[in-house]
Amino acid sequence: MIKLQNLCMNYKLEQAQLSVLNDAQLSIEEGETLAIVGPSGSGKTTLLTLLAGLEQPSSGDIMLDGVKFNKLDADALADIRRDQLGIIFQSFHLVQSLTALGNVALPLEIAGKKNAYQLARKMLDRVGLAEREKHYPAQLSGGEQQRVAIARALVHKPKLVLADEPTGNLDVVTGASIIELLFSLNKDTGSTLLLVTHDDEVARRCQRIVRLQSGKLVEDQDHALSV
Ligand code: ADP
Ligand code: MG
Repeated sequence: MIKLQNLCMNYKLEQAQLSVLNDAQLSIEEGETLAIVGPSGSGKTTLLTLLAGLEQPSSGDIMLDGVKFNKLDADALADIRRDQLGIIFQSFHLVQSLTALGNVALPLEIAGKKNAYQLARKMLDRVGLAEREKHYPAQLSGGEQQRVAIARALVHKPKLVLADEPTGNLDVVTGASIIELLFSLNKDTGSTLLLVTHDDEVARRCQRIVRLQSGKLVEDQDHALSV
């Protein structure tokens, strides 16, 4: 489903160049769960940003279902993001002028779904926020905003879920329920889950663990053998 081929990402700084990804290679099959681990600053968010088509790699390609994803134009990328991707960022990017329910319904409305509010309400309920549907982002705690963002990312049952430390802002109990939600969606809909996490236990629940190391992706073979 996804293939990274010699993926490189350099950031240009004033004096120098920072190489974050350096010939990263990876193949991910449809329906797999994969944890991306690595120390802070190793390029995990950068990798997800490229996979979401929000930035262009410096060189190399991302193949999505046999298509060079990174060579598509902005409209084609937007269509894929709308129909197939669910992106959970570290920062929530909620629309401040919309209620919790409005935020979750937004991707469905954009896609022209008739029962947008009904589906959005169901997903808000699944993240435990049924009682907060009329609240605006500013009236929600950080953890609640994160859960709205997660509901919005998952409401259209995307084929590929990209999650950047999705439980980073949540207490242990809420975090565990969000992880359950992500894994149950993977099981129910056959979606692919790419999860950046610092939590070893969460990583071990994934079928594969891949470590970002000096700009390369290194598969944890012991884990692959143990599942
Ligand atoms: P991680 O998510 O693993 O903590 P990031 O992908 O956010 O790491 O960042 C990797 C490295 O790239 C860091 O050293 C960071 O400072 C740098 N970086 C990230 N985004 C930019 C940018 N837009 N411009 C310059 N440097 C960046
Ligand atoms: Mg990060």
